[in-house]
Amino acid sequence: DGSARGVSGDDRISFDDLVAAIESRLTAAGASPSVAKVLAANCATCERDGTLSHGVFRVAGYLDSLTRGWADGVAEASVDVAGPSYIRIDGRNGFAQPALAQARPEIDQALGDTGVAVIALRNSHHFSALWPDLESFAREGRVAMGMIASGKLAVVPEGATRPVFSTNPFGFATPVADADPVVFDFSTSSMSHGDLQLLRAEGKEVPVGTGVDSTGADTTDPNAILDGGGIRPIGGHKGALLSFMIETLAAGLTGGAFTYEIDAEAPEGAHTFRTGQLFIVIDPERGGNDAYLGRVREFVDMLRDAGMDRQPGDRRYANRAEAAERGIPITDTIRSLLD
Ligand code: NDP
Repeated sequence: DGSARGVSGDDRISFDDLVAAIESRLTAAGASPSVAKVLAANCATCERDGTLSHGVFRVAGYLDSLTRGWADGVAEASVDVAGPSYIRIDGRNGFAQPALAQARPEIDQALGDTGVAVIALRNSHHFSALWPDLESFAREGRVAMGMIASGKLAVVPEGATRPVFSTNPFGFATPVADADPVVFDFSTSSMSHGDLQLLRAEGKEVPVGTGVDSTGADTTDPNAILDGGGIRPIGGHKGALLSFMIETLAAGLTGGAFTYEIDAEAPEGAHTFRTGQLFIVIDPERGGNDAYLGRVREFVDMLRDAGMDRQPGDRRYANRAEAAERGIPITDTIRSLLD
């Protein structure tokens, strides 16, 4: 049954039906058909693979941003090829994934011509997991990394008296010979904002070290962290410095806003944030090393052999295979979408 995803019973929905259900909600809230198609596929992909913090759970937030007029659901991004490998995209206050999809011809051209594409996307809302953006590149044989200055002031590094970063995710994807790509993607905070919200909704506590309350004291209560407190970065000062890098690249370099600027600008209750994202995509064959895929395969095999038998992506690929066979488990969140 679907107990691994916190649902009881055996109700299932197909991927295509879930995409269609999300798509119709988004278009009803004002998204263009092309934007709704990309966003719905992204959301259903997260749900199917078990990234529930960024699956159907997020639909209400997308709808809210659209109906408030905070994000533009019909935006057409403008794509500027600033150099042979350098693509600057103005999302024009639309969502990031449709903007990225729109720039795909220029990205492919840069990769074909130079082997590298630096994609600097600004003025765009990213409200999802990063890995779907990256996995698609890896499936085409590219190495890809991405990061988001994600816009919600939520992370308090040690020493700071208020949140200064967002949960700023970083992701990486590489193709592997004769295997699924290895793809990882994580927030640079001890816990993602989405997971904290899910735990709050379930009335659960979090481990000590996850975050602090409004007085700066450690707390295990998600309410205290989310309402006036803050989440700690991963790994102490090292995570704080990764977050610093993400803000400088995904906001400073792209021309997007730093989290502290976005958070001040966003209306009360905004769910999506007008952020910046940076992607770097590399054709590994241009590295002068046409054995790359095989070498990565040997490396991954060595890791498994050494006991690191859980590789990033394993959980998602297992969920994906199960969903392909049996459908996606219908959680309460999906049920309320379908009602
Ligand atoms: P998780 O801790 O859930 O997972 C991090 C990564 O580590 C995943 O790729 C996962 O693979 C892998 N992994 C997990 N456990 C192991 C293990 N034991 N060994 C090896 N690899 C492992 O990530 P977070 O909770 O930090 O983030 C969740 C999502 O939130 C991310 O997708 C992120 O992009 C998103 N996010 C989005 C934001 C936005 O503004 N748009 C802001 C912040 C976060 P697997 O997938 O197979 O489980």
